[in-house]
Amino acid sequence: MNTLHAGGPSVLQEELSVEAVFAAQRATAIAQRVSSAKARAEKLQRLEEAVLAQRDPIRHALMEDLHRPVAETDLFELVPILSGLRHARRHLKAWMKPRYVPPTLAMFGTKARIRCEPKGVSLIIAPWNYPVSLLLGPLTSAIAAGCPAVLKPSEMTPATAEIMTRLIKATFDPREVAIFEGDAAVATKLLALPFDHIFFTGSPAVGKIVMQAAAQNLAAVTLELGGKSPVILDETADLRKAAQSICWGKFSNSGQTCIAPDYAYVHEKVLPAFLAAMKEVLARLYGEPAQTPDYCRIVNEKHFARITMLIDEAVKDGATIVVGGEREATQKFIAPTLLTGLTENMAILREEIFGPVLPVLPYRDLAEPIAAINARPKPLALYVYGKDQERIAKILRETSAGGSCINSCLLQFTHENLPFGGIGHSGLGHSHGIFGFHAFSHERAVLEDKFSLMPWLYPPYTPWVKRWIDWTLRYLA
Ligand code: NAD
Repeated sequence: MNTLHAGGPSVLQEELSVEAVFAAQRATAIAQRVSSAKARAEKLQRLEEAVLAQRDPIRHALMEDLHRPVAETDLFELVPILSGLRHARRHLKAWMKPRYVPPTLAMFGTKARIRCEPKGVSLIIAPWNYPVSLLLGPLTSAIAAGCPAVLKPSEMTPATAEIMTRLIKATFDPREVAIFEGDAAVATKLLALPFDHIFFTGSPAVGKIVMQAAAQNLAAVTLELGGKSPVILDETADLRKAAQSICWGKFSNSGQTCIAPDYAYVHEKVLPAFLAAMKEVLARLYGEPAQTPDYCRIVNEKHFARITMLIDEAVKDGATIVVGGEREATQKFIAPTLLTGLTENMAILREEIFGPVLPVLPYRDLAEPIAAINARPKPLALYVYGKDQERIAKILRETSAGGSCINSCLLQFTHENLPFGGIGHSGLGHSHGIFGFHAFSHERAVLEDKFSLMPWLYPPYTPWVKRWIDWTLRYLA
């Protein structure tokens, strides 16, 4: 089967090759380029209805893949997706409007505007840790921008990938949106095609592979990567509130969150009180973590072994387990764990942990954590807990991160009016709301000559023209 039937959702995609779908999307990209806000909003509505109709299968799939509590799936997958879809539908018309810009002095007599045009056929590669919202979130932006898209969900959460495949195939014609399940081999095959934009969410290591592949076709990229997101907790922080926030941000999804606090610098004066507060909060949130239905599991044996090794090596080299440390390999269960007594050369302080372990380091002078954070690759998030506004301002001024929260964590992800993205090793470009729309759009400059003075400056370069140029240069100097 090499052709695509017209109109409506299709069930024919499984018979089509990656190349055939790509060619079909490319052929229809022009029609989608001129699609109205109404037509795009209708597609977004279709996706919204499909997600709502599949709520229960999605919850079950995530229970199967990650033993994820239903409340966490609702909060971290369905709420962001549905609110992102609604936000895009509401604002799409305004985002699509050309933006008129005023003329500069030299451009007197011209009229100029910026038109957002769809970049074209897009590839979206998603990770496993939030396999619904990190697949359908970028898709929301691609549809809003008017781009056809090919999706590649993660192979590590197969039950969810299967639901996503069914949902996409039942909702869209593959010329609009197509999906291919599979591992790195399928991703590699897709990356060989000359997509106009590649939106990748995953690890920095694979991000480099994606960027290299994109370079072969000079495809534009958005890279949403990971890394070690630090916390700095000042001695003025409300310890109880900070402990609640950090436990929630760190141990939801068993720490498998790209913007989870990875490690914490705590002022030495409040370290014992902070650890006590963390113990108390953990007992309240999870009671007996192995028994509670509100605690997730590690995605697979490989990641279970990796996190276990990080803890064991740190302990062997002198770290202390303050809370937790228990695991159960058959369940892929690792209890929420706090570690102290760490040294900077330990692997747990160098690699992204991506699991329910929080190393806590004391500091005396703010310059210490700032220098240590600046010595590492730029993080996706940096969180500050404290009340001293001057110190908060100093931390923000003297460090760099994809995003930050003050006295909170994770919430920067859910604010539709904030750009979400990393910097350097933690990513390139932005997603969410208008920023996601722009990620899939090209801002085309359009200038219209009404009565500009430029023709007076064409050759021959008379003394008058030269005087005018001299005068302009003097004015600019
Ligand atoms: P990963 O990089 O291993 O995989 C991500 C995707 O890339 C998957 O679909 C996978 O099949 C594909 N892939 C794997 N190897 C590939 C290759 N050689 N060539 C092409 N594609 C390949 O990441 P993961 O383990 O799924 O997710 C965890 C990582 O993602 C963490 O580093 C985390 O911080 C990061 N992450 C970032 C964000 C963000 O928004 N910035 C969100 C979630 C996760």
